[in-house]
Amino acid sequence: MLARDAGMFVWLFVIGVLIVTYLRRQSMPTFDQYQAQYPNLVNDGHVTCRQCGGGSIYLRFAGLSFSGVVTNVHVCRACGTNLYRSISR
Ligand SMILES: [Zn+2]
Repeated sequence: MLARDAGMFVWLFVIGVLIVTYLRRQSMPTFDQYQAQYPNLVNDGHVTCRQCGGGSIYLRFAGLSFSGVVTNVHVCRACGTNLYRSISR
C-alpha cells in the first residue's frame, strides 16, 4: 500500500515537471516575436542578446514532440539567457 502511494507520488511529480517544462517552453518567444519585441537587436538575421548585448548564440535542444517536431532554444553564450525558441522537423 505504501509502495503504491510512493509510486503515485513519483508519477505526479514527473507529470508536474513535464507540465512546467511545457509551459516554460511555450512562454518563450519565437524568433518572430523576439524580432517584433526587440527590432534593434535583430539585423539581417544576426541576433543580439537582450540581456548583455552579446552576439554569440547557440542552439540547445529543448524537446521532441510526439509528431516529431524538435524544439530548440537559442541561448546567449556569454550570459546564458534563453532568448527565443524555434522548431525544426
Ligand atoms: Zn547575453
